[in-house]
Amino acid sequence: MTQPAVEKLEFKSELRQVLNLITHSLYSHREVFLRELISNACDAIDKIRFNSLQNEQLLEGNRDWKIKLVADKEAGTLTVSDNGVGMDHDAIIENLGTIAKSGTKAFLENLKQADAATRPELIGQFGVGFYSAFMVADQVTVVSRAAGQSGAVKWVSDGQGEYTLEPAERDRRGTDVTLHIKDEEKEFLDPWRLRQIVKQFSDFVEHPVVMDVEKSGEGDAKVIEEEVINSRKALWLRSKGDVTQDEHNAFYQQISGNFDEPLKVIHYSGEGTVEFKALLYIPKTKSFDLQYGDVKAGPKLYVNRVQIMDHCEALLPSYLRFVTGVVDCADLPLNVSRELLQHNPLLEKIQRILVKQVLKALEDLKTSAYDDYLVFHDELGNFLKEGLGRDWNNREALADLLLFHSVKTEAGKRTTLAQYAEAMPEDQKEILYLAGEQRSALANAPCLEVYREKDWDVLLLTEPIDEFVLPGLPDYKGKPLKAADRSVPELKPEEKARLEAATEGFKPLFEALQGRIQEVKEVRLSSRLKGSPACLVPDEGAMGASLERLLRKMGRSTEEPSKRILELNPEHPLVKTLQAFHQQNAGDERVENLGRLLYEEALIAEGSRLEDPSAFIKRINALVGEKF
Ligand code: ADP
Ligand code: MG
Repeated sequence: MTQPAVEKLEFKSELRQVLNLITHSLYSHREVFLRELISNACDAIDKIRFNSLQNEQLLEGNRDWKIKLVADKEAGTLTVSDNGVGMDHDAIIENLGTIAKSGTKAFLENLKQADAATRPELIGQFGVGFYSAFMVADQVTVVSRAAGQSGAVKWVSDGQGEYTLEPAERDRRGTDVTLHIKDEEKEFLDPWRLRQIVKQFSDFVEHPVVMDVEKSGEGDAKVIEEEVINSRKALWLRSKGDVTQDEHNAFYQQISGNFDEPLKVIHYSGEGTVEFKALLYIPKTKSFDLQYGDVKAGPKLYVNRVQIMDHCEALLPSYLRFVTGVVDCADLPLNVSRELLQHNPLLEKIQRILVKQVLKALEDLKTSAYDDYLVFHDELGNFLKEGLGRDWNNREALADLLLFHSVKTEAGKRTTLAQYAEAMPEDQKEILYLAGEQRSALANAPCLEVYREKDWDVLLLTEPIDEFVLPGLPDYKGKPLKAADRSVPELKPEEKARLEAATEGFKPLFEALQGRIQEVKEVRLSSRLKGSPACLVPDEGAMGASLERLLRKMGRSTEEPSKRILELNPEHPLVKTLQAFHQQNAGDERVENLGRLLYEEALIAEGSRLEDPSAFIKRINALVGEKF
């Protein structure tokens, strides 16, 4: 018989980079490797258990679910064994030789740019899963026998770039992951230390994690007994008051992969029409997955303590993908299929309840712990804005959760739509906002001068997502929302008459300017300018300047830039001078020069870039030269 060959294979290149990082970076939480291996073992058990719901035969009588840790000090090895689904030759190449995480590229890119101090933290957020074994091991061996197979396969690697595969023996289905512990990491062979790590990170896993312990038997005899070291308490099934903050923290860390505490715990027991228990966590900060877009939305779904799905998307809308947790619903059949879960009226009902609970928890936080809420809002508020654009039923609750800068808020402070609406004077009918990149530039925008004079506040929107969300919100509690550069306060009859009369006198100048400054759609007198000579405002129905800039930055703009309207302030000395130049001599080239200069100033004020800055500088210098 020919000897089965040992195959030598290479890791895919992205995985090589990840491994390189893991083995060569200072990593502050090396003990999480054990959590990762236990969690994989658990997943493998859940998989075979789930598959066996359709076909009991698959179990081959091997259903005493267990994850066993064996530390061998002499050999310097730690083995994590399970009787889960196992992997065959192809599955092992697929699962342990490539990396499927979609955010990996972005993560590596970011890591390269981050400075050395923030690097370990970044790596900490990246769920390295199985490969975290290489933080503490210089060699890892995996022996696995897949369900329904008679032979096993052995995978060996030092985490440098290659691994070998060869046929092996294993008496039953399951997987052994054996770590050859590095010299400087020998603490991970100490049973006491292992126990402590399991308690910290894996106490709640559903399946028993066991270790052999030596106990004194009769007389001097020693007996070896298998001891379960995790408590396996399903927190969500206990009553609310019985769960301590420490238990919540540990469970949250285990299921979210974060290292901090949750911002808010939602422990809910649904009774009446739908019976279910939910334990949800709102995080303080954006996890790696949320940041790099590889997030799986939805809490875990259990049916009577049996995990059916790791992420059940039907239980929470995708904008709430920052929420992690568990939902246990006894009313679902155990063998429910994924397809059936998609449009299941029961889950839809649960989802409606959970969304209300999450939004209510955030509202409570906003009232009772504003400073914490502010931090949350800055990190994760954009998800709520995303929801505002999608979840019509909860529009008002979501709108109430948003915080805004405004002309009147002090630095570091925010306002809400409710506070804004409350402070609106009698004659102000619309909630006004202005969108752009920088708070300071927006607050001083010439187009807001009329509101400043009236002492009306204006919300200042500085997040790109605002441009897509706020204009889609028609009103807040009956008060329409309106972009401040698309609206002017109604004029009193005498003001209106004055403006009309002045317009008559300016007509020839405006016609001349329009002919010479082709970039603008129209030139007209302004009723909103109270100090500045000029400003640009968007035409009805046309895109605003900042949205246009944003789309261009995103590479989405295919159209020609839209033409804006140039408004001039008839009271301003420069505008008066311009009028005088034109009246004295319509052909005076200073008309175009000064007109252009005002247009360019308005462009700068709205945050846009000048097409030809040096021509602008020449015009400025000429003007200054005339004065001095
Ligand atoms: P993740 O668990 O997020 O998928 P990991 O890096 O932890 O990522 O594991 C990669 C894959 O390797 C798993 O998805 C699984 O298919 C496989 N795997 C790892 N450990 C085991 C195990 N003990 N039994 C069966 N399959 C495993
Ligand atoms: Mg894993």
